[in-house]
Amino acid sequence: MKITHTITTSTGDAIPAIDNSVWRQSIERIEANRRSHRIGYHDSEECMMCGRKMSRKAHENARHVHMTIDGDLVPMAAEVGSLSQGWFPVGSECAKRLPKGFAEKPWVG
Ligand SMILES: [Zn+2]
Repeated sequence: MKITHTITTSTGDAIPAIDNSVWRQSIERIEANRRSHRIGYHDSEECMMCGRKMSRKAHENARHVHMTIDGDLVPMAAEVGSLSQGWFPVGSECAKRLPKGFAEKPWVG
């Protein structure tokens, strides 16, 4: 998966980003994965990218992605201020598909 564009922050920094339409699998595919793993729509222990369930252990050790309020992905450590929607867990297979720095373990402490 490749960078699709850059986002300009309020401080003028250009942040590399991956568009929502590129990184997110189709809603149909995510729903199918959710059904096959028998989990509810609001279960938080699932991969943000594909909807597959993650074990508690995998979830605790998961890499995370950093999403903007527009649903695009930016590097984990990018400072995007009010454009940030937060950090979300992804499974190891999905994490492998992202460029370096886009799926990392959250900071500890
Ligand atoms: Zn996934």
